[in-house]
Amino acid sequence: MQTNLSESARRLPRAEEADSILRTCVHCGFCNATCPTYQLLGDELDGPRGRIYLIKQVLEGNEVTRKTQQHLDRCLSCRNCETTCPSGVDYHNLLDIGRAVVDAAVPRPLGQRLLREGLRTVVPHPDLFKALVNGGQVFRALLPDALQSKLPRSATLSKPRPATRHARQVLMLEGCVQPGLSPNTNVAAARVLDRLGISVIPSREAGCCGAVDYHLDAQAAGLDRARHNIDAWWPMIEKGAEAIVQTASGCGAFIKDYGHLLNSDPAYADKARTVSALARDLVEVLRDEPLEKLGIHSARRLAFHCPCTCSTRRNSVARSRRYSNDWVST
Ligand code: SF4
Ligand code: SF4
Repeated sequence: MQTNLSESARRLPRAEEADSILRTCVHCGFCNATCPTYQLLGDELDGPRGRIYLIKQVLEGNEVTRKTQQHLDRCLSCRNCETTCPSGVDYHNLLDIGRAVVDAAVPRPLGQRLLREGLRTVVPHPDLFKALVNGGQVFRALLPDALQSKLPRSATLSKPRPATRHARQVLMLEGCVQPGLSPNTNVAAARVLDRLGISVIPSREAGCCGAVDYHLDAQAAGLDRARHNIDAWWPMIEKGAEAIVQTASGCGAFIKDYGHLLNSDPAYADKARTVSALARDLVEVLRDEPLEKLGIHSARRLAFHCPCTCSTRRNSVARSRRYSNDWVST
């Protein structure tokens, strides 16, 4: 696609990157086929191709409106479109660049600003979020239906995690929302890894991956969280932790971008690249391990939900099929 960035767009720190991403898009529209918002809304501007076109227009100096912002807001940043793009368009980075420009040009209504601030205040803090989930369960009947349906039915107590006993060790991103809504997910992942001879080293100092801030108009705060996590993990990485495992694929996708996003930070660029190289979705770790050791017998069924943000999605599916004739797609 031809581009002609405006004077002000050319002065953006990521202008060159945006221009090069725009130029890789051939406007074929294959990506629309795997975009949930396009499937749901059927509007070209609520699909990746339309959003790319909107961002191009913005960066070329055309009018930016609340409508433009809304179409970009509706993108889930799920990156499913990237899996079907034949040109390898780096959509999510273009979206982040475009969103920052649009948000600077179009002030949000007060209600939206408060909501975004509220989410940024609560969501990245697991203890606070968990307390609110517990409170919501107690007062469920008083909550609006939409909120009730998102709360777990009952409080789930977290089971104990296996002790660190193997020579092979990995770190795990504990996450911010997941420990409150599904406290056993990380524990279950640690048990599976333990049976494969891999221990999870606790790293309580690390926190939210930063995606919540980064995707809610606070990109600098999101990058500060990335730096904080790098500092928290670094001593264990130096001691030989072989991966940073995530059980929430969206968080994992963001950690895999630390290296790119902190590329121009001389204090963190190298460490961020190392951290991104070590980041693995649980599925990617399992893909490379002898799953026979788990002792799942053929009479038993295994359900596998492949995350849309997992870069090895298709490989993982293929491997799951190899390991179990009873593979069930969810
Ligand atoms: S599939 Fe890729 S090249 Fe085609 S329109 Fe979508 S982003 Fe552009
Ligand atoms: S990131 Fe997800 S919601 Fe956004 S355009 Fe791509 S597929 Fe659609």
